[in-house]
Amino acid sequence: MAEFTMELNDDQKQVRDWIHGFAAEVIRPAAAEWDEREETPWPVIQEAAKVGIYSLDFYAQQFFDPTGLGIPMAMEELFWGDAGIALSIVGTGLAAIGVVANGTEEQIGTWIPQMYGTPDDVKVAAFCSSEPDAGSDVGSMRTRAVYDQAKDEWVLNGTKTWATNGGIANVHIVVAVVDPELGTKGHASFIVPPNTPGLSQGQKFKKHGIRASHTAEVVLEDVRVPGSCLLGGKEKLDERLARAHERARAGGAGERVKNAAMATFEASRPAVGAMAVGTARAAYEVALDYAKTRTQFGRPIIDNQGIAFQLADMRTSIDAARLLVWRASWMAVAGKPFTSAEGSMSKLFASEVAKKVTAQAVQILGGNGFTREYPVERMHRDSAIYTIFEGTSEIQRLVIARTISQMPIR
Ligand SMILES: Cc1cc2nc3c(=O)[nH]c(=O)nc-3n(C[C@H](O)[C@H](O)[C@H](O)COP(=O)(O)OP(=O)(O)OC[C@H]3O[C@@H](n4cnc5c(N)ncnc54)[C@H](O)[C@@H]3O)c2cc1C
Repeated sequence: MAEFTMELNDDQKQVRDWIHGFAAEVIRPAAAEWDEREETPWPVIQEAAKVGIYSLDFYAQQFFDPTGLGIPMAMEELFWGDAGIALSIVGTGLAAIGVVANGTEEQIGTWIPQMYGTPDDVKVAAFCSSEPDAGSDVGSMRTRAVYDQAKDEWVLNGTKTWATNGGIANVHIVVAVVDPELGTKGHASFIVPPNTPGLSQGQKFKKHGIRASHTAEVVLEDVRVPGSCLLGGKEKLDERLARAHERARAGGAGERVKNAAMATFEASRPAVGAMAVGTARAAYEVALDYAKTRTQFGRPIIDNQGIAFQLADMRTSIDAARLLVWRASWMAVAGKPFTSAEGSMSKLFASEVAKKVTAQAVQILGGNGFTREYPVERMHRDSAIYTIFEGTSEIQRLVIARTISQMPIR
């Protein structure tokens, strides 16, 4: 009979401690500087590449952890170090996973190395889906990809926005509409190789948080990519589109496609929940330390229940968030159906916890918490992203509500 355990095995502990060491010794000390500079921390990414944390292998190893805890554990530790720098390190992985999940072996072999570069010459990659009028509403996407059969090329036109690493990436993965009749089922993803004419960076956004991560518009003007840059290949796309048309004609059978897409999100959202847990834990640790050492009225401020109870609640909610993240991550590898949208639950809860806990940390540090002398101010700003990207909190609630009720909640 399978034994139930919540304890990490020795291998997992070793990996966790290794990543934590990198986060503590390399990421955390650089956090304030790159937050102020609002630039991609290339030297830190390079360090991560040298030790093997910035690589597809690193992802693959964590991804294939049979308990499902490899990725959440890695995310929590990296984002504990600093959210902006950590996103700069894992942003390429988000684009690379799209290629690994949907690409052919040839595409994986050709493009993944160009996404990462080498430790001496690191590169980054971007995943470009969101558009000015298509954020939560992915179905409103306008970027078009049209096939030029004579040249076996795809021609991309449109504007992407809020792309992490957009414009500075060596390789861009661009989602575009290939069949407007099919809504989101008529989308396909394209690899845009380095230095492709027509792709340019629009405005780079000045942000509230995660400022060490580059976020920008990506403009596509008659961008021509070879047929081989369609992720998965033309044959697979044609089959998928034909099936989608058939299902659309048959009515309800389309649900199956929607369910498959939802299952993918349910499996990927806990990773974002884990990032939020990392930021929350970092702020909580600073606040706990501070509360034990800061003296007012002749005693440490933690001597007051008003402070101590806040810390108790912070710790409780962080642990609860991690448990939801771990449950959903385990469900994904165990192939359990997400009958209550448990992946979305974990992302919703953890991201809201991060926002609340980091705000409490600022309060516990008083005036110091409000200054950039202490890291909780940055962590609080950083935490705001978790309830926005990879599906806002409202969208998570929508997904959970629809899943548990099986009603078309709007
Ligand atoms: C720093 C950063 C990095 C990002 N990185 C990437 C990236 O690498 N690649 C990429 O493709 N995208 C990226 N994004 C985009 C991100 O995924 C979107 O911002 C997000 O999906 C929300 O879309 P939106 O901003 O258009 O908000 P909107 O969809 O306009 O939402 C605005 C508000 O309305 C609410 N709302 C919308 N619809 C509903 C509804 N049906 N019911 C209730 N409330 C609703 C939302 O919850 C939100 O509160 C990034 C964004 C940021 C800020």
